[in-house]
Amino acid sequence: MTWNKPLPQPTPTSAPYWEGLKAHEVRIQQCDQGHWVFFPRIHCPVCASRELAWRKISGEGTLYTFTVARIPTMPEFTDEMPQILAVVKFDEGPHINTTIVGADPATLKVGQRVRPVFDDRPGTATLLRYTPVESAHPGVIDDAADAKVMPAAETVPAVAVRKIDIKNIDAVRALVSDSFSAWSPELAVTQELINEFAALSGDDYWIHTDPERSRKESPFGGTIAHGMLIQVLLGRLRIPQDYEITGFNNMVNYGSDRLRFPVPVPAGCRIHARSRVKSVEQVKSGVKLMMEINVHVVGQDDRPCAINDMIIMYM
Ligand SMILES: [Zn+2]
Repeated sequence: MTWNKPLPQPTPTSAPYWEGLKAHEVRIQQCDQGHWVFFPRIHCPVCASRELAWRKISGEGTLYTFTVARIPTMPEFTDEMPQILAVVKFDEGPHINTTIVGADPATLKVGQRVRPVFDDRPGTATLLRYTPVESAHPGVIDDAADAKVMPAAETVPAVAVRKIDIKNIDAVRALVSDSFSAWSPELAVTQELINEFAALSGDDYWIHTDPERSRKESPFGGTIAHGMLIQVLLGRLRIPQDYEITGFNNMVNYGSDRLRFPVPVPAGCRIHARSRVKSVEQVKSGVKLMMEINVHVVGQDDRPCAINDMIIMYM
């Protein structure tokens, strides 16, 4: 999967730190008087010595402070909400700004022991995240580990299914509800997918296909998916339903009463969907069932990115 988030730009001074992370080691500087130094510098902030050497440390430490961000600071981070922004104090003394993974924010406590997690997913750089020492979270995150954490959209949660005969119109009407189904499995909206849709639809407007220009010029801070792509992806988001309609000869997609894209979908985020039966109408040729289908960017459960009032005709 393409990494769409901003990445560190190593300087001659900081490069050994980033090279260390790539080797899954935490390396920080120490001066000739024994003071530990972090972030990377050209002199010791305690004694001003310029005699600094790189040392490998365990990277373990304590949670110094943290906050839980529930609204993404940049659109690229919508897939990480809620994001736990933290300061960790290395056992050697210096502090590092980081993010906590594999932990329920409600269980975190200032002062608890944390261990490093090397995030290899950006490809060109490895990022240093943290997790509580007792967490089962792997010490390295790569695309394979990521896929394990977030199941692909092929697996559907098992639900008990009631069979509803379409001829029993009262039973069908009873499906109408204000509350939504459970969520579908999640699906990653990658830049590759957006590019394929651009080629297929002929809509290759730069806000969808040019990450470089979009980072600089787009109000969204990066590329976004076509609204119609999100609509098309509905077919891959298997929404779990606790009923199955039976007893019809034919079922057709009659159309949509409303199709809206209220929230942009940044490249690289994940989406999931849920639905409810909005109305049931008996007409001459059969039964029209209107499903309100809402697609959300994962982490934005209060605001859908696509709304479709889809009408299915049972005959
Ligand atoms: Zn010093």
